[in-house]
Amino acid sequence: MKKLPEKTVERLSQYRRSLLLSLASGKHHIFSHEIAALIHITPVQVRRDIMLIGYSGTLRQGYDVKELTDLIGKIIDTKDGQKVAVMGIGNLGRSMIGYFSGKRTKLSIVAAFDINPEKIDRVYGGVWCYHFDRLAEIIKQEGISIAIITVPASEATRIAEAVVLAGIKGILNFTPRPLNVPSQVYLQEYDMITSLEKVAYFVKEK
Ligand code: NAD
Repeated sequence: MKKLPEKTVERLSQYRRSLLLSLASGKHHIFSHEIAALIHITPVQVRRDIMLIGYSGTLRQGYDVKELTDLIGKIIDTKDGQKVAVMGIGNLGRSMIGYFSGKRTKLSIVAAFDINPEKIDRVYGGVWCYHFDRLAEIIKQEGISIAIITVPASEATRIAEAVVLAGIKGILNFTPRPLNVPSQVYLQEYDMITSLEKVAYFVKEK
């Protein structure tokens, strides 16, 4: 299958979460307009995305929820799952660990790194915090492929360079400092202030 557009991957993740809720409530078939209503997009968009992954429903019953959930899993996840490290175990780093724990089976946060001696060699939500100096060793030993960066902005560039050198393949950057990474590394930046300013703009326009 061809590489999917970024927005499609985001929506597939959202579809899966809605589908899992439907399954849990005992619903076995679902129409595109029902998925669309759950996540506030158009049914055409849902059908387009699902066609892109080579799946189709029936006119009478719509999509088989379990089949579609499993297929999205095969596309988004890897067979053995992927391991994640948190860089900087401050307020946000600890929240990320708390939020993730027990949520997903295919993505697991397995290590944290920090430089504060009070935080090192301690366990946070089941995750061991190592000294940053042990980054390359632990990344290799644990087979970690993704890093979440939650250090102060002033440290972000240095940390990004270090995780790339250590062999990380994907970065989720929560700091407000935009990063440059080599093309083989996938980078996603998330800035809460941008999201909030967007809300504020649309509130103003209403
Ligand atoms: P914090 O000060 O509570 O935590 C930062 C942690 O990073 C500390 O534990 C510190 O010891 C550690 N650290 C500092 N330098 C380091 C280094 N070189 N290597 C490893 N660890 C190091 O901060 P916070 O509130 O958790 O915020 C963390 C980052 O996330 C900041 O950049 C902040 O601006 C950003 N943030 C982003 C959002 C968002 O929506 N994107 C929201 C809140 C915070």
